[in-house]
Amino acid sequence: MAERITGHTELIGLMAYPIRHSSSPAMHNEAFANLGLDYAYIAFEVDNDSLEDAVKGLRALKMRGSNVSMPNKTVVHKYLDKLSPAAEMCKAVNTIVNDNGVLTGHITDGIGYMAALKDNHIDVIGKKMTIVGAGGAATAIQVQAALDGVKEISIFNARDKFWDNAVETVKKINENTECKAALYDLADLDKLKEEMEDSYLFTNATGVGMKPLEGQTYIPDKSFFRPDLIVIDIVYFPRETALLKMAKEAGCKTMNGLGMMLFQGSAAFELWTGQPMPIEYMKEILDIKYE
Ligand code: NAD
Repeated sequence: MAERITGHTELIGLMAYPIRHSSSPAMHNEAFANLGLDYAYIAFEVDNDSLEDAVKGLRALKMRGSNVSMPNKTVVHKYLDKLSPAAEMCKAVNTIVNDNGVLTGHITDGIGYMAALKDNHIDVIGKKMTIVGAGGAATAIQVQAALDGVKEISIFNARDKFWDNAVETVKKINENTECKAALYDLADLDKLKEEMEDSYLFTNATGVGMKPLEGQTYIPDKSFFRPDLIVIDIVYFPRETALLKMAKEAGCKTMNGLGMMLFQGSAAFELWTGQPMPIEYMKEILDIKYE
């Protein structure tokens, strides 16, 4: 008889819509199997309309927790009991942990980004970074970087619907952490170049570079890079975006978003199970290699 799922198996969910394309179920179930942990991770199609009922279901079924992705990340906090400091600052949650009926919301995207840097021997603590983006992932990265001790963050974004969010993020970082944050319009490319010039690392945290914007970058030419600038793109499909290709040609150390994806998953995994994912094994499975 099959023994993988038993009467004791604990359930962890993923609530998002659309979600059938996600690689998270394969990643978490592979890690549970590798460590012999009695959990199962299943994706559920949940949108904003069904979210409240889904969270009630999580409580009623005594599930151990859930991941939460779009469009629920910025809404689900309303139905939870507590938030981690980073989730509170981002007003976004990607991980729910159920401790005997008390639901806590965490955001692990920023933790994953910082852990991927560390794993690749990139130490931005006490230094300056420039980052483009003001959406969910960018906000989580900016808040976590500030909480972890990055000295200065220059944020650029287009003046689109995400701009006001960036204004809020800068305010929260400056009020609640030792980090100095500032916001600039991405249309001001002279300013972008100036801020990149004295930064230790540069990060793209927008969807520019992946479909439908694959092959594109807002960086006009290689003069924006110098060989000792580290360039990160949190996009991981394609693995090498136009930004990373240009940065590599200019002699920069580069990294794509696969490491962040793995470590945000590992941080959630650890919150549920008390142990980290088998990182080296998962890196092999996901074919993650640093340059
Ligand atoms: P979002 O929709 O919340 O934010 C979108 C961001 O892209 C905003 O800053 C917006 O201003 C910017 N943008 C969109 N079109 C643009 C354009 N034409 N020019 C300039 N800026 C533009 O999305 P998100 O959830 O923050 O995700 C952003 C990217 O990060 C996506 O590509 C996503 O796949 C990736 N991501 C990676 C990880 C990871 O673990 N590596 C995790 C989350 C998101």
